[in-house]
Amino acid sequence: MLLAREAVELLVQASRIWYFEGNQHGLRDREWMALRFLGRANRFSRTPSALAGFIGATRATASQIVKTLESKSFLVRKPSQKDKRSIVLHVTAQGEKCLNQHDPVNHVLNAVTALGADECVRLRDLLRAILSHLDAAHQRLDASVCRDCMFLTERGPGTGKRRATAEFTCRLYRAPVALEETELLCTNFELTRDRPKLKEHRDLARAASQG
Ligand code: SF4
Repeated sequence: MLLAREAVELLVQASRIWYFEGNQHGLRDREWMALRFLGRANRFSRTPSALAGFIGATRATASQIVKTLESKSFLVRKPSQKDKRSIVLHVTAQGEKCLNQHDPVNHVLNAVTALGADECVRLRDLLRAILSHLDAAHQRLDASVCRDCMFLTERGPGTGKRRATAEFTCRLYRAPVALEETELLCTNFELTRDRPKLKEHRDLARAASQG
């Protein structure tokens, strides 16, 4: 129990990086959280309601955050291709540049990358396990990458060069998912436990290439 408490105390200290008073580079912590999420979310999750669920805010608060990000030209809204009454939020090139240069969590990202590939994977899996316990207790809307979701099915699987042309389908949305979209965040993610991961050792390879 003491060990667990120490670990949680360290997590709380780390969270000071992304929860702060006032603003950093012109954005409050929740605005950073929203921009960061929208920069990594797939097309199904770049909606005002998914954003509100992810940042734990009301629709009105999320809408205000979207307006602030739009006023800074970090975000634009476009009608959904599937349903013209719905809108999809898009991070602009300026928004991406701001994230790359000034996002407060970039320091954490660098520190985690420095741990090395194996430790990155271990840390990710531990945090995911902790979050899934918290989800059960608090019914929060979390997001994770599409490639490990139980709703994702692979059509035309391939290896090597053929892998790049593999197609996927989301059984929840009944929609095609491009290979590059399988690396994006989705708020309807459900962890698969009985299907081999699409990219078995991809995490290690990617982390190694970044290190
Ligand atoms: S497969 Fe899962 S993570 Fe991917 S888009 Fe569908 S619900 Fe979201």
